[in-house]
Amino acid sequence: HHVQLSPEKLVQALCQADDVDAQMSQLVQLFELSESERRLRHLLVTLFQEVFSEFFPGCAILPFGSSVNGFDIHGCDLDLFLDLEKTKTFQASAKGPQGAQAEEGAGPDSDSEDSILSDIDLTTATVPEVLELVAAVLQKCVPGVHSVQAVHSARRPVVKFCHKDSGLLGDISINNRLALCNTRFLQLCTEADERVRPLVYALRYWAKQQALAGNPFGGGPLLNNYALTLLVLFFLQTRIPPALPTLAQLRELTGDGDQAIVDGWDCSFPQDASRLEPSANTESLCSLLAEFFRIFGDHDFAGCMISLQEGRALPLPSFLLSEVGAKLKLGPFNVQDPFELSHNVAANVNEKIAQRFQHCCRDGAKYCRSLQYQRKSSKGKAWGLVRLFQPGVPEAGELGPDGLLITIPFTLMALSPGSRQLLCQARDFRRCWFDKVCAAITFVLKDVLKCSCTGPAGEPLGQEPTEQSGGEQPIVGSKHPRSDERGSLALSPAKKRLRVEGPAPEEEESVSWSCAVWHRVWMGRRRVRRQLRHLGSPQPDTEQEAGSLEVEEKVSEAIIHQEGDSMGAEPLLRFTACARVGGGQEDTRTLLYFTPVPQQGPLFQDFYHFLQGFLPRMVERYVGRAAWGRQ
Ligand code: ATP
Ligand code: MG
Repeated sequence: HHVQLSPEKLVQALCQADDVDAQMSQLVQLFELSESERRLRHLLVTLFQEVFSEFFPGCAILPFGSSVNGFDIHGCDLDLFLDLEKTKTFQASAKGPQGAQAEEGAGPDSDSEDSILSDIDLTTATVPEVLELVAAVLQKCVPGVHSVQAVHSARRPVVKFCHKDSGLLGDISINNRLALCNTRFLQLCTEADERVRPLVYALRYWAKQQALAGNPFGGGPLLNNYALTLLVLFFLQTRIPPALPTLAQLRELTGDGDQAIVDGWDCSFPQDASRLEPSANTESLCSLLAEFFRIFGDHDFAGCMISLQEGRALPLPSFLLSEVGAKLKLGPFNVQDPFELSHNVAANVNEKIAQRFQHCCRDGAKYCRSLQYQRKSSKGKAWGLVRLFQPGVPEAGELGPDGLLITIPFTLMALSPGSRQLLCQARDFRRCWFDKVCAAITFVLKDVLKCSCTGPAGEPLGQEPTEQSGGEQPIVGSKHPRSDERGSLALSPAKKRLRVEGPAPEEEESVSWSCAVWHRVWMGRRRVRRQLRHLGSPQPDTEQEAGSLEVEEKVSEAIIHQEGDSMGAEPLLRFTACARVGGGQEDTRTLLYFTPVPQQGPLFQDFYHFLQGFLPRMVERYVGRAAWGRQ
């Protein structure tokens, strides 16, 4: 049985380390499989081997993936390859020239062998047919195994299973010999340089915490651990001097016995790490991690192919003309398999995840420049890796998991024809629109919902850029600060300009708000809205979902009044919101990321769900009003 490490224990252990290098080594020790866990896996493999040999004489069960590649963690899945090559030969010879079966079955077991192998001809059977057979054997004949299921849809079809006593999940594949090679290659890299394991463990965990990698159910748009690991190895190949050799260099060092062609791909590399020359690179783990973030924060993932074969990023135009390039599936994230050269191991990654990966790297790089990263806190504060591993560190606040993203679409509908024209002619159209949306968000949070908001660095309120927006009124600035907003400073979206190095000419901008909610303004709005309508001033706006901005302001005020104005010393909720322009040249959406202060639980969830519906509608109304210059 494996014991999952609690996040608290992890933080505690890491904070006690002396420096970042020590933290990274700690990480490996905390995560890696214990001796007893390894023994259990070994026993399972032996058991599988015995059972399968009964049915498939000469077969081999070979573990691959994280159980054996050097990047194991507690409870990682057990990837197995069922090698049926020898069984095929056996079956072919058993059938003999004219079906002379009698020669074979000398032993007492021959009945069962005959019964299963006489049902199927392994040389002509399809993969699904063999897999169903494997599933049947697993289901019926391996003790302690349950939830057996053949999955045919995956790129590499597998039979999934669960081992009851240990809770281990695993899968068996039958046509995945390349995985044995790449597993061995990863293992070789861990043997070649002792910095490989700590660095990969740190980045795997970071990516998991940022919801960028490691989907436990497989599939989906996240990076998988294999692809992420290759990215780290590539990074080490490209250091100056290199920390790892390229595959082309490894091929040169391969002895005659280690030459291998698998599925037509050259998989030759030395099996023994002692054949490799020690690296001249002496960078510390602490600086390697920071450099990883810096480099991939600015890497053009969509524009080139990461090649571990050559240890460099190949520009796409010329790569696509190559023989393998023509067959490869390109995407926003391109990492070439080290052996199966026509395979992009990150082909499943979508645009959004690719962009978020980059943003997270930039935030990581920024954090790594701070003293908080580099030096142990003497006051017992989180430092070093710990803050990188927090799902929503303030530095990365704008990059909360997808669940806390509200997208505000661009809508021309809200604009008057005149404004529409002006906006479309504006030199920096996206920028201009983005500023409007930010002003609207400010208004909705502060004036409509009565949150108190502050930004860390301030431009005074009411300086909404209006240069390009014709005769429109800056709405925000015309509001007077309200006396009922205790603790609320003049609201000032903090403008952060993230510098982009390299060729990208466009400056990326984000605006963030730090907010406190004092009243349950998200509850019972519909009821209050109805009451207000009854009380008097008949509202022309009869929409059920939300009234005009003015009505919604009154609704909030009424809720606050009903709560009895009893404001606690502490707000109900605190969160930061961070807006940025959607990625991509044509993307006019505004992405608004929310990061709650930790441990607020269900209350924040409620508030957030409310905002998902309310905020975009109100923003649209505000922008429309500003554009028409009404009211
Ligand atoms: P973990 O199981 O902890 O996520 P892992 O290293 O075992 O880590 P898996 O995703 O289980 O990663 O993959 C196991 C093996 O399957 C890899 O070592 C690799 O050989 C192969 N593999 C996984 N994903 C791919 C892929 N996208 N392309 C090619 N081979 C892959
Ligand atoms: Mg695995």
